[in-house]
Amino acid sequence: MGLKKNLSNMNQKIFIKTFGCQMNEYDSNRIFDIVKKIGYQKTENYDEANCYLINTCHIRDKAKEKVYHEIGRVKKIFRSKKKPIVIITGCVAQAENREMLKREPYIDLIIGPQSYHKINDSIINHIEKKRKIELTDFNPNSKFKYLSKIKNDFGKVSSFLTIQEGCDKFCHFCVVPYTRGPEYSRPFNQILDEAKYLADNGIKEIILLGQNVNAYNYKNYKLSDLILEIEKLPEIERVRYTTSHPKDMTEDLVEVYKHSKKLMPLIHLPVQSGSNRILKLMNRQHTIDDYLRVFYELKEINSKIEFSSDFIIGYPGESTKDFNDTINFIKRINFINSYSFIFSSRPGTVAANLELIDKKITIERLEKVQNLLFENQVRMNKLLINKSLNVLVENLTEDKAQVFGRSEYMTSVIIDGNKSDIGKVLEVKIKQSNRSTLFGEKINNSNQKVA
Ligand code: SF4
Repeated sequence: MGLKKNLSNMNQKIFIKTFGCQMNEYDSNRIFDIVKKIGYQKTENYDEANCYLINTCHIRDKAKEKVYHEIGRVKKIFRSKKKPIVIITGCVAQAENREMLKREPYIDLIIGPQSYHKINDSIINHIEKKRKIELTDFNPNSKFKYLSKIKNDFGKVSSFLTIQEGCDKFCHFCVVPYTRGPEYSRPFNQILDEAKYLADNGIKEIILLGQNVNAYNYKNYKLSDLILEIEKLPEIERVRYTTSHPKDMTEDLVEVYKHSKKLMPLIHLPVQSGSNRILKLMNRQHTIDDYLRVFYELKEINSKIEFSSDFIIGYPGESTKDFNDTINFIKRINFINSYSFIFSSRPGTVAANLELIDKKITIERLEKVQNLLFENQVRMNKLLINKSLNVLVENLTEDKAQVFGRSEYMTSVIIDGNKSDIGKVLEVKIKQSNRSTLFGEKINNSNQKVA
């Protein structure tokens, strides 16, 4: 208790480096909400930090090495200064746990994603007793219970809200079931309270987050129930959710698109491959036909609904035919934007020891896929010229001369405007476009009506 009090008088500064997905971004913000309680302020300056936290991601290639590289940088910066407390959080912390403390003595605390609520006690314990601490239990229930009592501090227009964590699907390439644990859904009312708090504090867009967000199920409350409740909040203009699994695109969720007034018409629904054979090898538990069924059902409800996806290129065993199936599938769906990566093995997963296909072939395939996705994005953005779009303005541009916002499809839009536009949905006429950004001028404040 005494030390807690002292910490707030000790000018404690924390530098948080975040790798990876939106879930990690949300977690980093929540970690800061927690450490603020014992007096930490955020800094963007390595030099003045006395606590350095790396929130890690295990999805991409060389995740572990990136962490050690980053610690190397911190070591250099602090060579002739007092060493900061070094904390590793996130999925690499969970997967590697004690091994990291052994390999890099510069690390002080290892805290897995389900133990963030214990971070303050761990820091204090470390300061008092100089003990290295590793916390990698799976207990999302007590984490969220603790977090629900701490204010979510953001100061933005759009906010993530985690509703679900973990995964029971065990795709053969993925570490999430091992690093985030089994599927867990937060209590329905706890989420609604957080949504209300966000709305009361100026948030206009809520992005519901989960590793398998559409698997949300709390005492028979589904994602569809959450969407319909949250959109009743008058301050909320937009609701989104990510990331979904095709298997969990249930009838009630598809139906929501008929009734919802605030659910955005963009669905990020990763398919990973256009080949049924590869989907089976990946243990994705859905087929291309399952995906197409969802696609056509939603298009029938609203033809303006668009899809984005993730693709793994060069999965072990991917033949030319499998790859061509992926190409044809991309052409068929016309994904509005997508992420594509070369397969890279993750230790501990089923695919970890499979024989890789030729590197040169994989790189060529990735280029083909990316070019196709790129062309599609450019073409779709060009089609928007002289059309009007609803744009939620998020902030001023860096030079403060214009404003930045997002269309219903998450595309960046730059508009002439000023501070007073922030937080408003504007109707904007698009004048120019490039691959990733649209440029337009405002027509007026929009009465948004979507989906
Ligand atoms: S559905 Fe598959 S890819 Fe998605 S988190 Fe679960 S195991 Fe990973």
